[in-house]
Amino acid sequence: MKKNAPQKTKIVLFTGYSCNNNCRFCINSNKRELLEKTTDELIKEIYLAKKKKADIVEIIGGESTIRHDYTHLISVAKKIGIKEVLSATNGKIFSDFSAAKKIVNSGISGLIFSLHGHNSKTHDYLTRSKGSFNELIKGIENLKKLGFKSINGNTTIVKPNMRFLPRIAELYAKYKIRNVEYIFVDPTYGGAYDNFKELVPKISKASVFMRKAVDIGINCGYKQWKVRYVPLCYFNGYERHISEINERILFFTEHWAPDFKNTNALVSRQIISRKKTARCKGCAVYNACEGIWAEYIKRYGDSELKAVK
Ligand code: SF4
Repeated sequence: MKKNAPQKTKIVLFTGYSCNNNCRFCINSNKRELLEKTTDELIKEIYLAKKKKADIVEIIGGESTIRHDYTHLISVAKKIGIKEVLSATNGKIFSDFSAAKKIVNSGISGLIFSLHGHNSKTHDYLTRSKGSFNELIKGIENLKKLGFKSINGNTTIVKPNMRFLPRIAELYAKYKIRNVEYIFVDPTYGGAYDNFKELVPKISKASVFMRKAVDIGINCGYKQWKVRYVPLCYFNGYERHISEINERILFFTEHWAPDFKNTNALVSRQIISRKKTARCKGCAVYNACEGIWAEYIKRYGDSELKAVK
């Protein structure tokens, strides 16, 4: 599939699914036993990404920072001229100052910290890893001490944390994190599929807190605070803060995982996992909207969707 002219090519390299957290909602919770890619495989993929003129390579897991070759992979990618090398992380490793320094020195361009609670009680409950909140916060502080600027955030919205989103937003604001995504949990597979009722909130309820959280960023002047995987009927007036709209314009994204290769991540998500229904008929934002998770419609129905006038 060809990308549109102004789009940057972003290749997301999944290293495997091992992780030192065990998030309740993790989409990969049933894949932990799959083999991790080897160093050689990943190096080959980095060279292939360069050949495909990737502007951005994002190295993710599982938790890719726990690999022994993590910094090596980053430095190879930078050395062969990949402009931006990013990683999403649970942040634990950065609580160790020397490990944080080594990663910064390897040339990483940006880090996306996954923060799921405003305190240990909520974050550690969701990650099922005692101490993970304190480690993540210490990690942010260590990176700040090192003068590392590109710290971003993402938060998965589930029932146990949705009410605390404004508190989580205040924490992001405290650390001056200018680029944040609030991600409505994906129940297509994994933990949220297995424990749907316990974890997946109604969009009509969660969206109230998601909008409040984004407003906190807007009030701080942060234009890159966004929501992801939401139906637009709950985000009227927030069109500039919808990740998918932004993504469609700016990026052409491929996913290369150990168990699948997706050469147009955006289109496959629209076709396979997201859904619009008859209630969307005549909606003014029909084309811009991806609807809601198909699995959500299966379990909760579509009665909350309301065509935008
Ligand atoms: S009614 Fe349907 S198409 Fe319109 S915003 Fe809601 S989910 Fe999207």
